[in-house]
Amino acid sequence: MLNRKTAIVTGGTAGIGKEIALLFVKNGANVIIFGTNRDRAAAALHELEAARVNDSQKVLCQIANVSKTKEVEETIQTLLSTFGQIDILVNNAGITRDNLLMKMSEEDWDEVLDVNLKSVYNTCKSLARPMMKAKGGCIINISSVIGLVGNAGQANYAASKAGMIGFTKSLAKELASRGIRANCIAPGYIETQMTEVLPQQVKEAVIEKIPLGRIGKPNDIAQAALFLATAPYITGQVLAVDGGMVI
Ligand code: NDP
Repeated sequence: MLNRKTAIVTGGTAGIGKEIALLFVKNGANVIIFGTNRDRAAAALHELEAARVNDSQKVLCQIANVSKTKEVEETIQTLLSTFGQIDILVNNAGITRDNLLMKMSEEDWDEVLDVNLKSVYNTCKSLARPMMKAKGGCIINISSVIGLVGNAGQANYAASKAGMIGFTKSLAKELASRGIRANCIAPGYIETQMTEVLPQQVKEAVIEKIPLGRIGKPNDIAQAALFLATAPYITGQVLAVDGGMVI
């Protein structure tokens, strides 16, 4: 489905991002993942190489901090000179620094906003012009149901994820006439290293609120990303992939 397409997946070294990268590779795309941890990156790259379906497919890992504007600009410039064009951008890298607002440090506010939201400005700004020149492109931003409904103890995270949604809708309007689509996925509760730290009671309480009765898997989100990557008439939307959590 993605033969001859080239995709960047930020935070593709673990969890949801790695699963999206793997599914894109299995569907024939060249895939470049971004991450900051070298060991995780090397392990992920190994998995991506093994998932290739044709010999000409390229997979690559870039050690790049998505919150740093210059670092992202330079990395994307290098990739454009190697690959010619980037067809799909998945902004998936994200972190949490949870706390009640009363106890939330300025540092935790800034870090979450920088990694989760400024990163989206960084990558989209670097790719908007090249995608316009190519008269096409697909941007998929991994937001969260928390960006839709909020959550006590996650004001920074919720603000970053809600910000992504407003950003995506604006970009969809700005770039539609050039054939570029921008959509969000809002995952519910997905089994990754981000959520494994939660106490068992909290996990059980969350499952009770999921009509489909189970925690999501990274592949549930990857399937949605593949759908959006190949859905030519969908732009500016937020697709909740949450087992019905926020119906
Ligand atoms: P993980 O913690 O499992 O993975 C996060 C990924 O982001 C890693 O690959 C990490 O790589 C990368 N990353 C973190 N900071 C940076 C940075 N500064 N620059 C580049 N890469 C970075 O998270 P999930 O897979 O659970 O989450 C992925 C996305 O989905 C996030 O945006 C998250 O907010 C969102 N989401 C997750 C949900 C869940 O239940 N798990 C629910 C709703 C949304 P490295 O460590 O190498 O930097």
